[in-house]
Amino acid sequence: MNARNLAPIGHYIAGQIRPGTSGRQQDVSNPATGAVTGQVALASSAEVDAAVAAAQAAFPAWADTPPLRRARILFKFLELLNQHRDELARLITAEHGKVYTDAQGEVTRGIDIVEFATGIPQLLKGDYTEQVSTGMDNWTLRQPLGVVAGITPFNFPVMVPMWMFPVAIACGNTFVLKPSPLDPSPSLRMAELLKQAGLPDGVFNVVQGDKGAVDALLAHPDVKAVSFVGSTPVANSIYETGARHGKRVQALGGAKNHMVVMPDADLDQAVDGLIGAAYGSAGERCMAISVAVLVGEVGDQIMPKLIERTKALKVLDGMNLAAEMGPIVTEAARQRITGYIEHGAKEGAKLLVDGRGFPGAKAGAGCEQGFWLGGTLFDHVKPEMKIYKEEIFGPVLSCVRVPDFASAVQLVNDHEFGNGVSCYTRDGNAAREFARRIQVGMVGINVPIPVPMAWHGFGGWKKSLFGDMHAYGEEGVRFYTKQKSVMQRWPESIGKGAEFVMPTSK
Ligand code: NAD
Repeated sequence: MNARNLAPIGHYIAGQIRPGTSGRQQDVSNPATGAVTGQVALASSAEVDAAVAAAQAAFPAWADTPPLRRARILFKFLELLNQHRDELARLITAEHGKVYTDAQGEVTRGIDIVEFATGIPQLLKGDYTEQVSTGMDNWTLRQPLGVVAGITPFNFPVMVPMWMFPVAIACGNTFVLKPSPLDPSPSLRMAELLKQAGLPDGVFNVVQGDKGAVDALLAHPDVKAVSFVGSTPVANSIYETGARHGKRVQALGGAKNHMVVMPDADLDQAVDGLIGAAYGSAGERCMAISVAVLVGEVGDQIMPKLIERTKALKVLDGMNLAAEMGPIVTEAARQRITGYIEHGAKEGAKLLVDGRGFPGAKAGAGCEQGFWLGGTLFDHVKPEMKIYKEEIFGPVLSCVRVPDFASAVQLVNDHEFGNGVSCYTRDGNAAREFARRIQVGMVGINVPIPVPMAWHGFGGWKKSLFGDMHAYGEEGVRFYTKQKSVMQRWPESIGKGAEFVMPTSK
């Protein structure tokens, strides 16, 4: 089909899907087949202004809506999400490529956050001290910020927006989402479900777009806070630009997650953990394991198993229920990853399984032109190599050998990223020391991908997060609200005369 004839994927502003008017658009493809399936509008700054204006107009009434009534709308949204979970998963697979069952898991992890956000009346309770001074009380409350924006990456088009907007709107803010232009459709479906749940128009808006839309959001005086998830260079720049414009910013960046395998670990469990975490979602997860740190004799023991399992990966069209790994999101990403593989081989790492040249025809009928790569495995990777230092964001596992626990911890701590990490061991003391000493925000002990549950909050350290607060959980509530302290006394308890000394509790 001619892409020019495809209906454009538009924005969602003030409760309506609107076609783009900027004249700029971008193709959207099905990564499994390579076919162009739609065209997403790229917002102009005037369209961003319209979305922010809709959100600004909706804010006073929404902020005044009692938290319990906001929560009831989220309960209805939750019900609709559960009913439409598979439909959302299909939309994800069609534009992202990930395996359908993995997409179902993504929607479920998003639903977890909505469940958390339905508890907002409890979360916003505030605190109160009676009699801080004679006849005087003091309490703190948290109030919404206003219009807040979310800028999200391609790799979780449902879950990552849901790290943000359920908590933001539960707190009484209104929201403008700028999703990735690579997989824009799920954002519009979520908007429709929110409307069906009874969310007033203007509380949730979507502007499709690229850097232009992001720049307009960052400069807009009515946008009070920005949540960003994406690659580190963009996260860094959004943090700095947003702060310069006086906004509150949390900007989650890239990663290079290590899994340390100790000699006492159950090696079969470690292999399962590594294969799933390195190649699941084709390695396009910010919590994917991309480095295996093999301690002592583990390297020689585990390598034959890793080679066998990497070669045996079922790389198939994501809608095939037997698939373990789907395609790469775009041809450009496939080429970038291929470039890293070439570089790694040239740098002297040992290329044990080479995913280049994986034929699309093997993935299923119609997949010949898709963006395919097989799983790739490197051994004897060294810390100074580019494939160790940089985020590849693809199905490439780099194995580094170290002599002992202390060097494993040092290696992880020396890396510039600090998103997730895992340690496989049977030794409680090693596990405890690891969790205490490691300079990483999210730690798994015999858990390969330790994505925190909804009420714990998600965030890395070092160059994996710019800002002070993690996404969702109670930190999310703090991020989307500002604290106010109120002191009160009544005429009967006010003393006589002006006071010139610092008031104390008397
Ligand atoms: P990306 O940085 O290219 O894009 C993220 C968002 O920023 C998109 O909405 C995109 O349109 C926008 N954007 C891109 N370039 C921009 C620019 N120059 N200025 C302003 N906005 C820009 O990231 P991606 O490729 O979509 O996603 C993959 C990256 O996201 C990986 O680095 C991955 O580790 C990271 N990620 C991190 C987390 C986390 O929680 N730390 C979670 C998911 C993904």
